[in-house]
Amino acid sequence: MTLTIPFDNSYARLPNSFYARQAPIPVRAPRLIAFNSELAKVLKVTPGEVEEMAEAFAGNTLPEGAEPIAQLYSGHQFGNYNPQLGDGRAVLLGETIGTDGLRRDIQLKGSGPTPFSRQGDGRAWLGPVLREYVVSEAMHALGIPTTRALAAVETGEIVLREGPMPGAVLTRVAQSHLRVGTFQVFAARGQLDSLRRLTEYAIDRHYPDMDGTMGLLRAVVEAQSRLIAAWLSAGFIHGVMNTDNCSIAGETIDYGPCAFMDSYHPNTVYSSIDRMGRYAYSNQPDIAVWNVAQLATALIQQMEDKDAAVEEATEIVHAMPAQLQESWLKRFRAKIGLVTEEEGDLELISDLLTRMAQNQADFTNTFRALGGDTARDQFTDPTAYDTWSEGWNARLGREQDPSTVMAAANPAFIPRNHRVEQMIQSAVQGDYEPFQRLNTVLARPYEDQPDADDLKRPPSETEVVHATFCG
Ligand code: AMP
Ligand code: MG
Ligand code: MG
Repeated sequence: MTLTIPFDNSYARLPNSFYARQAPIPVRAPRLIAFNSELAKVLKVTPGEVEEMAEAFAGNTLPEGAEPIAQLYSGHQFGNYNPQLGDGRAVLLGETIGTDGLRRDIQLKGSGPTPFSRQGDGRAWLGPVLREYVVSEAMHALGIPTTRALAAVETGEIVLREGPMPGAVLTRVAQSHLRVGTFQVFAARGQLDSLRRLTEYAIDRHYPDMDGTMGLLRAVVEAQSRLIAAWLSAGFIHGVMNTDNCSIAGETIDYGPCAFMDSYHPNTVYSSIDRMGRYAYSNQPDIAVWNVAQLATALIQQMEDKDAAVEEATEIVHAMPAQLQESWLKRFRAKIGLVTEEEGDLELISDLLTRMAQNQADFTNTFRALGGDTARDQFTDPTAYDTWSEGWNARLGREQDPSTVMAAANPAFIPRNHRVEQMIQSAVQGDYEPFQRLNTVLARPYEDQPDADDLKRPPSETEVVHATFCG
């Protein structure tokens, strides 16, 4: 069999100023370490021989129909505007239209230098590639919008990071790689024709039912609100919510220093570069609003009647916190078994979270155990749970089937940091068994899997991962 990808490329048809044509740079000795057959089917990709796929997903050979480009964008990094970022270590091979009718990008990440690399080497090492593979696929299985992983290869080359590391390339799949930063770059340069062309393209591709530029803004507000609520409900901390990592399609993108919390605390930060806690767990809603405000600022540049546009955009952005709150409530109501809406639900949920924070309760295990005999054991002072659950039980009396609702909203399995780190260390030693096992178990996060109880366990004191890195 031959690897075939039915490319249908739209971005490469856009003006030259949107990207640089850039082929991936070949690597020495590619070896295929993962291929996602289930996702391949959705993309209508026909797998080929292992050798052939290793060459293709390393960028050594180009599948027929690929038109590799590095995309241009800019963005705010930790609040400071960087006028030019762009794909510094990735190339978009092209797009396919899947069995579900959705257009998706197929991108190689770690595929060598591009005109946007600046000081970087254009490469990725094995750790972050496997982390993104496992975590993005886990997010998908959890029901959280996300980019996905189609393949991973080792390059047979060494990449210099904290030390010499094995190089790797990830094949990333996204509904698109349009970001807030893609709009910012044209707005900042005053390239209004490009900005208009991009806006049309984004509406056509993602929100064909929305009307005009402000319709696009409304759609992104909604998509980002749902996304952030989903993150919070899973205890997920993205870690680097720069505007170039804020997807127009509303997917989680750029798995750098991301992490799932073990014990709950709203101020939790893992990223080693986030010294001020700008992207802490509970700051994520505010940051998403800030990011969307940057999109609004960029979009407004192209409007004929600026005053009217500013007024409308302001109204849309100001409505976002309420939308976020609504999405959040929906997610967290389900986590405590509620389908109906009553006044006081918000306070009930917040009260539980406060008690969890005060009692170092494990986020995932506490919610999964709610209603069972073991929930109280998650609290350093179990009576903190008992007194909360009295009010909760009274509220549950007015619900139909809370156990089923909770089982579908509270995963048993998340990619815990220490397990991800252990998996990476094994892979660097050549043992891919933990990688395979994590993928298998995390594909069914809401099912009890008695053989995998060890993967539910929070880290022991020596296993705790205190900081994560961008890679
Ligand atoms: P990120 O923090 O991952 O969103 O990346 C920010 C910018 O740095 C993007 O333009 C990346 O393409 C670029 N970048 C990150 N790592 C590298 C690297 N190793 N080589 C070249 N560019 C990189
Ligand atoms: Mg990025
Ligand atoms: Mg990154």
